[in-house]
Amino acid sequence: MEIQVVKKVLDVNDVMAAQNRKRFADHNVFVLNVMSSPGSGKTSTLEKALDRIKDQVSCAVIVGDVCTSNDAERLSAAGVPVIQVNTDEFGGDCHLAAHVIDNAANGLDLEKIDILIVENVGNLVCPAEFDIGEDARAVVLSVTEGEDKPEKYPLMFRVCDIAIINKIDLLPYLDYDKNAAIEHIQRVHPDMPVFEVSAKTGDGIGEWAEWLKEKAASKKAAA
Ligand code: MG
Ligand code: ZN
Repeated sequence: MEIQVVKKVLDVNDVMAAQNRKRFADHNVFVLNVMSSPGSGKTSTLEKALDRIKDQVSCAVIVGDVCTSNDAERLSAAGVPVIQVNTDEFGGDCHLAAHVIDNAANGLDLEKIDILIVENVGNLVCPAEFDIGEDARAVVLSVTEGEDKPEKYPLMFRVCDIAIINKIDLLPYLDYDKNAAIEHIQRVHPDMPVFEVSAKTGDGIGEWAEWLKEKAASKKAAA
């Protein structure tokens, strides 16, 4: 019984996600869904990347948290339009569903946006199950988490197109085995591209920002 209910919720979500995907395609907007556990540094990684590309491509962000507008305030400082979603207002969902993205997108001028980044609610479980109409998905993990996260939360790593390992500036102080982490990632998702970055020092941010720009450009070229 419970499984049927969950299936129904996901079916309804898929219909809305398909509508979102069409709407974003009609406006030539490339959408990246960024997911991670809380504290991996999604917001600061995005701040750094946006800072690099915002003068070349027009970007916007939808940021989801259960409560507070702290992340939206930080991202606004990067000088791009930001819509904050607080899931607390509708039951404290631990993920962003497609209808929430539809609603949030109403607050943006999609015609003027090339790249829309969705910073999902910090959670490695159910955000992986909710299609929001995005073009690509990224999972951020940090070197202060266990190397075996990918095998503990395999769905997340399977549905994502790239993994970003953040906080590499901390490696000298930790026992974290980065190569083991990459092995764990690729055991779950063979050949998944892995970017190694530090939002603090800016190391590696350029490479993943380039990836983002290229993906957006190839969607435009294919339209
Ligand atoms: Mg955040
Ligand atoms: Zn959830």
